[in-house]
Amino acid sequence: MLVQCPSRCIDLTLSHLREAGRSRRECVVLWLGKRAATNIQIEVCYRPIQSTAEDMFEIPRAGMQALHGELRQRRLMVAAQVHSHPAEAFHSRADDRWAIIRHEGALSLVLPYFAAHTTPSSFMQDAKVYRFSSAATWVEVPFCQVQRECLEIL
Ligand SMILES: [Zn+2]
Repeated sequence: MLVQCPSRCIDLTLSHLREAGRSRRECVVLWLGKRAATNIQIEVCYRPIQSTAEDMFEIPRAGMQALHGELRQRRLMVAAQVHSHPAEAFHSRADDRWAIIRHEGALSLVLPYFAAHTTPSSFMQDAKVYRFSSAATWVEVPFCQVQRECLEIL
């Protein structure tokens, strides 16, 4: 299902990732949205409570509780998670294991170099996009398929 993300969420996502990157830390943000007939519309770029280091992030129990409260109150779902890496973008084994969303079609985006060089217009090119498959694994979506099948920036 196509995830539609407004450009203001991309801006906010990049500013969170870059801000953390200035102190050489990863950062994770979650895109919260509503499911419509043929797509999911992102409404909120949410930065959960997190503990991070140069090569990891973790959302502690209090962060998960706050997230679930937000989802309930605003009737939203987590459509995608986006996080930064210090160097290349890929889905590490820890990313596979700790991904907080695990529904079929969920997206996980990884941005390289703490998103330091990424602009809203290069976002789609720089991000590696993974989709949770029916076989319950994260599968990289080739760039040429991303805009058609996964993610549209509005
Ligand atoms: Zn990672």
